[in-house]
Amino acid sequence: MALRITDECINCDVCEPQCPNQAIYMGELIYEIDPSKCTECMGHFDEPQCIVVCPVECIEVHPEHTETPDQLMARYHQLTGTGTSG
Ligand code: SF4
Ligand code: SF4
Repeated sequence: MALRITDECINCDVCEPQCPNQAIYMGELIYEIDPSKCTECMGHFDEPQCIVVCPVECIEVHPEHTETPDQLMARYHQLTGTGTSG
């Protein structure tokens, strides 16, 4: 599943450099996650790094982007150019 940042974000800048897919960017008011780049850290880490580091726990599953693990792995391979098996 892709994740999203809620409006409780305090713009602390901590999560953005932690994302292995460069999916996090500064939006108009708060940080946002590009759902087409978020793999929930699958392929890189065991758990979502943005959630691990966020001090106010304002990152949640995006209700409109509930992909399966296979879809997330496919996205990981697409983003990293490492083939499509797995
Ligand atoms: Fe980036 Fe991982 Fe957070 Fe998705 S879960 S936005 S890939 S750090
Ligand atoms: Fe916002 Fe949390 Fe990211 Fe900080 S770590 S910028 S509070 S989403």
